[in-house]
Amino acid sequence: MSYDPQPEASHYVAGGYIEDTGGAPLEVVYPFTGARIARLHCATDRVIELALASALEAQEVWAAMSGTERGRVLRRAADIMRGRNRELSELETRDTGKPLQETLVADATSGADALEYFGGLAATLTGEHIPLGTDWAYTMREPLGLCVGIGAWNYPTQIACWKAAPALACGNAMVFKPSEETPLSALKVAEILTEAGAPPGLFNVVQGGGDVGAALVADARVAKVSLTGSVPTGRRVYAAAAERIKHVTMELGGKSPLLVFDDADVEDAVGGAILGNFYSSGQVCSNGTRVFVQRGLRERFLRRLSERLEAGVVMGDPLDEATNIGPLVSAAQRDKVMGYIRQGAREGARLIHGGTAGPGPGFFVAPTVFADVTDDMVIAREEIFGPVMAVLDFDTEEEAVARANATPFGLSAGVFTRDIARAHRVIGRLHAGSCFINSYNDAPVEVPFGGVKASGVGRENAKAAIEHYSQLKSVYVRMGAVEAPF
Ligand code: NAD
Repeated sequence: MSYDPQPEASHYVAGGYIEDTGGAPLEVVYPFTGARIARLHCATDRVIELALASALEAQEVWAAMSGTERGRVLRRAADIMRGRNRELSELETRDTGKPLQETLVADATSGADALEYFGGLAATLTGEHIPLGTDWAYTMREPLGLCVGIGAWNYPTQIACWKAAPALACGNAMVFKPSEETPLSALKVAEILTEAGAPPGLFNVVQGGGDVGAALVADARVAKVSLTGSVPTGRRVYAAAAERIKHVTMELGGKSPLLVFDDADVEDAVGGAILGNFYSSGQVCSNGTRVFVQRGLRERFLRRLSERLEAGVVMGDPLDEATNIGPLVSAAQRDKVMGYIRQGAREGARLIHGGTAGPGPGFFVAPTVFADVTDDMVIAREEIFGPVMAVLDFDTEEEAVARANATPFGLSAGVFTRDIARAHRVIGRLHAGSCFINSYNDAPVEVPFGGVKASGVGRENAKAAIEHYSQLKSVYVRMGAVEAPF
């Protein structure tokens, strides 16, 4: 690592770093060593006020610019981000513990994609003309105003950009609060936007935990809240936003099903299950953690899965590009995941692979596979957010669809089959927002992303996100006399 991960100060407000040592200390730990790599402070009321006030000011300046000008700033930010990919990826790896092999291709690059995509859309956000005989009406697409973004710890750069890019493209300003576990990289996003020409205050970053998030959500000047986090947090934030009828986007948790039929290509299905359970050590909201395998393919599937895990897993130093499994984000998350693994064993699931923590001081959990899992087991019902795959058997399509849907979550779903009609039929019946056929966990910016049921409200990415960061004003224009009854 060529530079010190300790930022100049904790918060980024009004185009620069600010500090207030009156805020509670926030220690940033490298999950591979457990050592402290940075020391920050949570935002005080003063910092929160400065962030909100400067964002409101910047929003007026920004909204008065043309879409083309706004888009140019975002596209410039995308270029800067791509140019700094290695440095940003190393920082993301230090902050999250995710292997550099992943962060080099999935974090700043994905953030840059969002900035580029929404930068391109910014100039196209127009209303429509509605002819009504001699009268007519038109609509204007207007920004919401001041938006708050609140992030989870698994994809800090990506989450900041997936929220900021559409918000800013539509003419809004944003105050962003990263997860207290991973506060570093959002500051870099703010630096880059400033360098790209964003007015000071347009994208502010304040640090802290749930209390800082709650203070932002409660502020009357905030028009919209976009949260990426767990369902319990989503419930609280949604309720707080409802107090003042604020707009919300909720990107929450999941327990997504992956259906593998007898006729599937077994190597592809195993590959999909690996990507959908072990990428980022399983800390991915859309993961297909309930893998339903049709009985005829089950033993072959489990054998190939074990062989590929045995041969392919490289767990270790996440800054070594050969490593493909890094530690979890924190000791607490490791302990929580290990608790679920013990629970799975207690409930009678068959441990096929992994099941252990370690090595070293890092917060590692080995990629773990349980077979013979039944629908009632806790490991088949609750989101674990770690590298734990539950393999369940099924006989018929009807049964698989019904069991896959029997969950309060509805983020993602996947199906592996060579039968094209079945693939579309099954996907059509699954209750999920982001689905995959013969693949898993692809999330390009051009495609809407988000959940149904308890997994969320609204969509990120694609043109769909524009609907969630703008509102329509309708204007009726009478061309003749007004005929009043009296
Ligand atoms: P979390 O719910 O604990 O925290 C998320 C964020 O909310 C943090 O920044 C936290 O400080 C903040 N927060 C907590 N209480 C708050 C309150 N009362 N008001 C305002 N903000 C508050 O989630 P986590 O542990 O950081 O992340 C893991 C969860 O996020 C998992 O459930 C995962 O599925 C979900 N997630 C979802 C997506 C998605 O796009 N759907 C993506 C990544 C992660």
